[in-house]
Amino acid sequence: MIIAACILLFMTFFLGFWARRIALGKGRNGYIWFVIGFLFGIFGVIAAALMTNKKPTHIVNANGDPVIICHHCGKESPMHLNVCANCHYGFGKDYRLP
Ligand SMILES: [Zn+2]
Repeated sequence: MIIAACILLFMTFFLGFWARRIALGKGRNGYIWFVIGFLFGIFGVIAAALMTNKKPTHIVNANGDPVIICHHCGKESPMHLNVCANCHYGFGKDYRLP
C-alpha cells in the first residue's frame, strides 16, 4: 500500500515537472504549469503540449535590421529593447541571440 502511494506521488511529481518543462519551452509560467500537471496528470501535460508558443521570434526585417516579433501583439520591435515597443510585453533574457 505504501509502495503504491509512493509510486503515485512520484508519478504526479513527474507529470508536474514534465508539464512545467514544456511550458517553460513555450515561454509560459513554469510554476502554474507544474501545478496543472501535478493536479491533472497526463491531461495537464497534453494541455501544455497543445498551447501556443508565447516566446518572441527573431527575424530580419526588410531593411536588414534584426527585430523581434512579439507573440503578445504580433508587432516588430528592435532587438535592443527588453520590452515590446507596441504593447510593453516583457521579452525576458532567454530570447536573446547568442
Ligand atoms: Zn507586443
